[in-house]
Amino acid sequence: MALLSIVLPAYNEEQNIENTSKVISQLLTENEIDYELVFISDGSKDGTFREIQKAASENPCIKGAEFSRNFGKEAGIFAGLELTSGDAVIVMDCDLQHPPEVIPKMWKLWLEGAEIVEGIKSNRGKESIFYKLSAGLFYKVMSRLIKMDMSASSDFKLLDRKVVDVLLELPERNTFFRALSFWAGFKTESIEYEVQERQFGTGKWSFLSLMKYAVANATSFSTLPLQLVTVMGVISILFSGILAIQTLVKYLMGTAVEGFTTVILLILIIGGFIMLSLGVIGHYIARIYEEVKGRPKYIIRSVTGNVQGNVSGAWRSKNR
Ligand code: UDP
Ligand code: MG
Repeated sequence: MALLSIVLPAYNEEQNIENTSKVISQLLTENEIDYELVFISDGSKDGTFREIQKAASENPCIKGAEFSRNFGKEAGIFAGLELTSGDAVIVMDCDLQHPPEVIPKMWKLWLEGAEIVEGIKSNRGKESIFYKLSAGLFYKVMSRLIKMDMSASSDFKLLDRKVVDVLLELPERNTFFRALSFWAGFKTESIEYEVQERQFGTGKWSFLSLMKYAVANATSFSTLPLQLVTVMGVISILFSGILAIQTLVKYLMGTAVEGFTTVILLILIIGGFIMLSLGVIGHYIARIYEEVKGRPKYIIRSVTGNVQGNVSGAWRSKNR
C-alpha cells in the first residue's frame, strides 16, 4: 500500500505538536491511509522538540528532527522532504491553519494520477490590512517577476515522490518552495481550502522577516532588479548628455547662472556613472552569489523516531 508522508515545519510550536499529531493521525486512520508525520523543529527556543520526541515515542508513525538554530521555514520544509519515504508527500503548517480535512481530498487526486496538488487559499484567514497590503503587493510583484500566479498559492501542497526527488536534487540554497513546485512543472491539480484561525501560539512572521523573505525570493527567481540598475544608469547618462548640451549652449550664450553649469554637469555625469558601475558590480556579485550557494540549507542537531540514514549528530543536507 502507498505511503503518505506529511512534513510539518515547526518553530516554537510546543502548544501545537500534540494536538496536531492527534488530529492528523486520527483523520488518516479513519480514512485508512498509511502515513508518517515528519516534524522539523526549526531551532525552536521552547519545548517543541521535546513534544515531538514525546509524540514519536507514543506513535511509531511520527518522526522528527531538530535544527541547530533557526534556519527558516523553507529549510524546515526541505529537511522534512529529505526525511520522508512516502510515495506522496504533503507539506503543511503545524498550527492547523491548513485544514487537515483537505488531506484525504489531496490524496484522492494523487491516486487519480495528479503529481502535484496545489492548495489554493479561498480566503486569507484573519490578517491585518497592513499585512494584506504588504503580502498582497509582494505576490503581485512576484507573480510578474516569475510569470506565475502566486496570489492565492501557499505552502500547503501534495507532491509526488518524483517531484520531491527533483526538488531535493536542486543545489541552490535560497529556495522558494511555493514557486519551485510551479517551476518543476508536472501534472498539477489544485484544490481550494479556507485558511483557519490559529488555536495556540502566535504567528512567527514579523514585518522584517516578511521583507527579507520577499527580497530573498525575488532575487532567487529573477535578476531583473540587477538589470534595472544598469538600465537606470544608461538612462541617466543619456539624460546627462542631453542636459549637458543644453547647459553648454546656455553657458556659451552667456545666459547661465555663474557656477551652475559645472555643478549640474558633475552631478549628472557622476550620478550616471555611479549607477552604471553599481549595475556592473551587481552583476559580479550575482555571479559570486551563484557560486557560494553550495552551502547546506540547514544543520540537523538531533533526530527522533524511525529516521533512516546517517543524519544524527552532524549536519547533513545531501552535501554534494
Ligand atoms: N515556521 C518555521 N520556521 C520559522 C517560522 C515559521 O518552521 O522560522 C513554521 C511555523 O511553525 C508554522 C509555519 O511555519 O508551522 C507557518 O508559520 P506561521 O503560522 O507563523 O505563519 P502564518 O500562518 O502566519 O503564515
Ligand atoms: Mg500559521
